[in-house]
Amino acid sequence: MMRLPPFTYLAPVSVTDAVKLMGDHGPEAMLVAGGTDLYPNMKRRQFEPTVLVGLRGIRDMIGVRGSAKAGMTIGAGTILSAVSKHAEIVRSYPALATAAGLVSSPQLRNMATIGGNVCVDTRCNYYNQSYQWRKAVNFCMKKDGEICLVAPGSSRCWAVSSSDTAPVLWSLGAHVRLVGPDGERVIPITALYQDDGIQYLAKRPDEVLTDILVPRAEGLRCEYLKLRRRGAFDFPVLGVAVALTMDGDTVRTARIVLGAVASQPREATEAAGLLVGQRLTPDVIAVTADRASRPSKPLDNTDFTHPYRKKMTRVYVERALQRLAGSREDA
Ligand SMILES: Cc1cc2nc3c(=O)[nH]c(=O)nc-3n(C[C@H](O)[C@H](O)[C@H](O)COP(=O)(O)OP(=O)(O)OC[C@H]3O[C@@H](n4cnc5c(N)ncnc54)[C@H](O)[C@@H]3O)c2cc1C
Ligand code: SF4
Repeated sequence: MMRLPPFTYLAPVSVTDAVKLMGDHGPEAMLVAGGTDLYPNMKRRQFEPTVLVGLRGIRDMIGVRGSAKAGMTIGAGTILSAVSKHAEIVRSYPALATAAGLVSSPQLRNMATIGGNVCVDTRCNYYNQSYQWRKAVNFCMKKDGEICLVAPGSSRCWAVSSSDTAPVLWSLGAHVRLVGPDGERVIPITALYQDDGIQYLAKRPDEVLTDILVPRAEGLRCEYLKLRRRGAFDFPVLGVAVALTMDGDTVRTARIVLGAVASQPREATEAAGLLVGQRLTPDVIAVTADRASRPSKPLDNTDFTHPYRKKMTRVYVERALQRLAGSREDA
């Protein structure tokens, strides 16, 4: 049985205190919310903090405010089951409710937070293994080793962004509020991620993500589809998020964002551009889906073969668009 290493757990009740504690303890400390990703990772010694600054006691970070008409603010400490069942989110941002409701299992969704999901570690078959397993293959550069075992000639890590909500929030044009020792900043979620399996977040370790700001939903139609082996609780090995704003039957703006095909969510910008000014006819959908698979470049480091995951990108984009056109219910 894998056991947690010893650590000190600190329980601030305000964001200010959390930031201060992170500063006091420096690189020895990590933030923890629901712990559904961090604790298993600590058992495998992928992270070895001696101090954890828990965010669960910070009431200001919990809850959903605002409206679809004005835009919504989701506290980063809100658990995923609450996000997936929130009436306004279900009605006006259904892709977000779907993505939150497809993370892992019901038990984990009752502990796991949306902030933790946005910040969740990248994944790789050579990394999400026990310490002994990783030691037997001489580790890899993401933790304890020197080289990448997927691409041995590569100078970077290709671990996969595996959050379900990240591609959806990207497609919706969400922003995040970060609070750190130098104060507060609000950035587009697109700027939170970077294409590096190790440094996948463009934020300081002592910055707390406090809120997610979702723009108003006027004319919005959105969808999220997830590919995984076991429907009950696996991580995505492909996620497809589509967000359209419509003028009647005509697409006014479009975003297609692919999850789990790179170290950050990847936007299929060209494909989305093909939709603008068009009606969602079968021909338009087919051409867009073909184009959307171009930026999908999965590597051989998660479940299923990477050529299959690439092929499924086209299929899933097509299904998502068919659903948004109202012509397919069973995807
Ligand atoms: C069996 C299993 C299946 C899973 N399946 C899925 C899945 O299908 N899809 C999926 O997306 N995830 C999955 N996960 C991963 C995880 O459960 C979720 O991503 C979850 O939402 C993480 O939230 P948390 O609050 O538990 O985060 P934690 O584990 O507490 O933290 C995760 C990371 O985020 C950081 N963090 C947390 N909150 C903040 C904050 N407010 N500000 C700054 N940093 C923060 C932590 O420091 C840590 O690095 C799975 C995990 C397990 C064990
Ligand atoms: S992509 Fe390479 S460096 Fe990154 S976790 Fe996998 S094997 Fe390690």
